Amino acid sequence: MVEVTESHRAQVGEMQVRRALPRRARRTVGAWCFADHMGPTTATAEVGADIGPHPHIGLQTVTWLTAGQILHRDSLGSEQVIRAGQLNLMTAGHGVSHAEQSTGTYAGELEGIQLWVAQPEATRHGEPAFEHHAELPQLDLANATATVIVGELGGTTSPARRDTDHLGAELRLRSGETTMPLESHHEHALVVLDGAVEVDGTTVAPGHLAYLGTARDELGLRASEPATAILLGGTPFPEQLSMWWNFVARTSDEVDEARASWNADDGRFGTVDSPLERIPAPARI
Ligand code: MN
Repeated sequence: MVEVTESHRAQVGEMQVRRALPRRARRTVGAWCFADHMGPTTATAEVGADIGPHPHIGLQTVTWLTAGQILHRDSLGSEQVIRAGQLNLMTAGHGVSHAEQSTGTYAGELEGIQLWVAQPEATRHGEPAFEHHAELPQLDLANATATVIVGELGGTTSPARRDTDHLGAELRLRSGETTMPLESHHEHALVVLDGAVEVDGTTVAPGHLAYLGTARDELGLRASEPATAILLGGTPFPEQLSMWWNFVARTSDEVDEARASWNADDGRFGTVDSPLERIPAPARI
């Protein structure tokens, strides 16, 4: 089964995004609860992503670029340039804030995906953390190379932190057919960033999420031109999420408290050293 949903076009900072998750018809894939395909756009040294300081709770941000560079700064004091093929993984726990901005030196194409992973009950009230992975393991397949961003694919495991049983991989497909092994207890979805990918006779192009369901122990893909896609998978998330703005919680009250703390700047979310303006939480309707 392949269920294709259309992504929602939105503007985040200076970038056009195509939001594949969440959508009304599909809220999560495993613990993955948010997926923004950013760009492609042309960045200058001064204007790129330019998302000012903002808070998060209860989630991990997974930032993955296919082109360009972004500078990450957070309330833990992390300052990290991310380049294409590298991973920035920030764990929010009970509260963190960060900014994503142009590097001040890089100019050129900018494209990538920002994903969120809902944290489980066991870690979502815990301490924030940040990690950067400059190199990630790859799996060579017939007509494709898979980079394992988080989790495990075909016996190849990412060193990135993982609080639930989930998988994220970048697939670089060449012309032809590819088969990759999957965990049959996972549900899976595909977000195509570039080119077109055929799965079970359905052609998936950028601007869509193809939900593939559970109970697949392998996945066959076909491309007639080189294509880039993100494969998401995981054990279906067992809890109901309460998501609003940049917060992933379980109840509306938790969201209200986080919103009030950020707008009062009461210390819960720390301070980000950034020249960009702090983004206030909008009114809650
Ligand atoms: Mn963020």
